Amino acid sequence: MSVDALKFNDQGLVAVIAQDAESGAVRMMAYANEAAIRRTLETGAAHFYSRSRKQLWKKGETSGHTLAVRDVWVDCDGDTLIYMVDPEGPSCHTGAETCFFRRLERDGRLVDAQGEVAEPTLLRLERTLQTRKASDASKSYTKTLLDAGPAKVDAKIREEAAELGRALIDESDARVASEAGDLTYHMLVGLVLRDVSLRKLLTELSKRFGRSGHEEKSSRQ
Ligand SMILES: [Zn+2]
Repeated sequence: MSVDALKFNDQGLVAVIAQDAESGAVRMMAYANEAAIRRTLETGAAHFYSRSRKQLWKKGETSGHTLAVRDVWVDCDGDTLIYMVDPEGPSCHTGAETCFFRRLERDGRLVDAQGEVAEPTLLRLERTLQTRKASDASKSYTKTLLDAGPAKVDAKIREEAAELGRALIDESDARVASEAGDLTYHMLVGLVLRDVSLRKLLTELSKRFGRSGHEEKSSRQ
C-alpha cells in the first residue's frame, strides 16, 4: 500500500479534511492530487490541488497561514484523507478560524452563526467563557467568578475536586460524570482568567504520549 494505491477520482483527486490535531476542530476541506500529497509528506506542510487554478498550492503560501501536518489519515475507501494539523493563524481565506462558520437551520435557511463555529464541546465552552469575560453581564455566574479573581476560582476548584473524589468512591456513574463536569468547568474558568488557552493545555497533554506517568512526574521534580 502506498500513495498511488489511493482511489483518486477521474480528475486524479482525493478529498482532504484538515483537522486541528489538538482540539479536533475541522478547519477546512480541499482536494489533493498525488503530487500534493507527496509534497505534504515530504515537507510536513499542507499542500492541496486547486481545481479552479488547476495547480498545486501550499496552504498559507501568500497569507502565511500554514497548516503543519502531523499525520495523514486515510479513510476505509481510500478516497478521503484527514490532515491532522497544527494551524498557524486563521484557516479560511475570509479571515475566519475555520471555513465552517455558517449553519443550515432545521428549516433549511443558511445563517451566519455570529462568531460561533463548528467545534467540539470543550472549545465551545471555552469560547462561551471568553465571551462572558469580555461582556459586562452581571447576571452571569462565570462573569461573577472571573471578577472575583483567582482566589475564588481556587476555592471552587478545591470544592469541586473534593466532590468528584467523593463521587468516585461510592456514588453513581451519573454523579461522577456530573461532578467531573463541574470540575472541568471551573478549571476552564481558571484558564480563561489567566488567558491560557485550552489548546495550550491539550498540547501539554499530547506531549506526554509515549512517556509513562511516572517518568513525566519525576521530570517535573
Ligand atoms: Zn474558507
